[in-house]
Amino acid sequence: MRFLRVDMNGLKAVVEEVPEKYRQLAGRGLTSRLVCDEVPATAHPLGPKAKLFIAPGAVAGTSAPSSARVSVGGKSPLTWGIKEANAGTPVAQYLARLGLKAIIIEGEPKEPGKYWTLVVTKDGAEFVPADEQTGKGLYEVYRGLKERHPTAGFIACGPAAEARMAMAGVCFSDTDGRPSRYSGRGGLGAVMAAKGLKLIVVDPAGTSPVVATNQELFKAGQAKLVEAILTHGVTKPGGTLNTYGTAALINALNEAGGLPTRNFSSGRFEGAAKISGERMAEIVKERGGVGMMGQGCHPGCTIRCSNIYPKPDGTELVSCIEYESDWALGANCGIDDLDAIAEMIWHCNDLGIDTIECGVTIGVAMEAGLKKFGDAAGALALIDEIRKNTALGRILGQGAAFTGRAFGVVRVPTVKGQGMPAYEPRAVKGIGVTYITSPMGADHTAGYTIAPEILAVGGKADPLSPAGKADLSGAFQDTTAFIDMSGYCLFIAFPILDIASGFEGMVETVNAVLGTSFAAGDVAKFGGEIVKWERQFNRAAGMTAAHDRPPEFMRYEKCPPHNQVYDVTDEDLDRIAGV
Ligand code: SF4
Repeated sequence: MRFLRVDMNGLKAVVEEVPEKYRQLAGRGLTSRLVCDEVPATAHPLGPKAKLFIAPGAVAGTSAPSSARVSVGGKSPLTWGIKEANAGTPVAQYLARLGLKAIIIEGEPKEPGKYWTLVVTKDGAEFVPADEQTGKGLYEVYRGLKERHPTAGFIACGPAAEARMAMAGVCFSDTDGRPSRYSGRGGLGAVMAAKGLKLIVVDPAGTSPVVATNQELFKAGQAKLVEAILTHGVTKPGGTLNTYGTAALINALNEAGGLPTRNFSSGRFEGAAKISGERMAEIVKERGGVGMMGQGCHPGCTIRCSNIYPKPDGTELVSCIEYESDWALGANCGIDDLDAIAEMIWHCNDLGIDTIECGVTIGVAMEAGLKKFGDAAGALALIDEIRKNTALGRILGQGAAFTGRAFGVVRVPTVKGQGMPAYEPRAVKGIGVTYITSPMGADHTAGYTIAPEILAVGGKADPLSPAGKADLSGAFQDTTAFIDMSGYCLFIAFPILDIASGFEGMVETVNAVLGTSFAAGDVAKFGGEIVKWERQFNRAAGMTAAHDRPPEFMRYEKCPPHNQVYDVTDEDLDRIAGV
């Protein structure tokens, strides 16, 4: 395995041997270590010393199930701290097949406003001007690329990134070549654009799937993990995720009073049933055509939580609608129209922006009175401001925290400048600890305590009680950092939390590929090391304990229907977030 180091100043791409200290790292473990080692903590995220790292997870490219995860790392222009955001995409498999442990993008481009495409094949890498793709929406860009490079996958930043917007993500192609799989959070698309890099074409033609160094161990681990995935109610064929997608959580969270509604002013949305995964599955069936539930985001996913949402005539509207996007552009904006939500997701994909940050920002803009809650046409008009790059669009494009400041909004649901995802922290206290103490800013994936708090997976915890939630979140954050290194989709957490042999299988496959000897008990310990590196970077970047706090309004404003404030103590938060 090698590094591909890309110098955007000299337009050179050089293959390097991987130094010994990085050999047993991958995915988030590798990107976060590289950020700590190669990016000055006080560097401007869009400046000459910033870098972008793209690293497939440890088992990506093998035959392990649901394992095509790729991490993107850098310093975030949204939080100004360390960032890792990962996506499920065939590109992760292609990078691994090409023997690339990471792509490192660095250097200040010589010509501001000029963009390049990097074409990576088994024979090397070359630069091609991206004039044709510059300024265009990603659907058009990806369509043209697929025609020219039929065996390749694509990594790109969209028009919002070209405008240096802090809600711009890094976009990966899905199995059909759509621009729909995102390392969305934290504005890393803007970092890519600031390097003058518009596109990376990753063509694995002439390569073979990755074979683990220890095949016997790999096969044994793989069998245990597959068995766990195929058995567990959430992940099995015909199970919750496969049948209703992640949007099955809409009804579950609404029932629990934890579905943030109208800019986090309630935990219940009267229109929840209309935008639920169950309703989506009905619409897909009614409309027929290309619509489908149970789609995989890459070949080899055994869970398949994705979907294609059709227009009334059966042609494709968007792929896919997942829970976070559905909530952010739906309940959080008071919108109960799935077609309108699907259209907004399409625009986000086309512009290359994070649907969560976009929805949270529109919620704040609605709170400021720019549009009314529930006004779907108004929400689409705000997205159009971003597309047109107007003065208002540029404010919105910088995210919820910036928009809140621009319009003097007090109720701004962000931590470290990043918009909160789809779980109301006053109704689900453990996920609140994750939002508040994660080095990534408000990020549910950093420690998904929803599993025991709402879904009764991996034990049971009372969502409304603050007791023990700091430790629960701390343990989840550490374990998650390891899973983010492994290359597995985070949804394997459901079966492996409940089925011990599945957990063992996950660890064994990682050991078989990386040559490590982790025991099951080492997972949280090693993941905790990764989180520690990330916290150290943030401290060096100037973050203090004051950044590990909830938005003030959540401390004093009671959230219906439970009428609770956020009451995990500062002492508990500091214990988890301390370096
Ligand atoms: S479970 Fe869903 S997100 Fe995870 S790898 Fe499969 S399709 Fe992708």
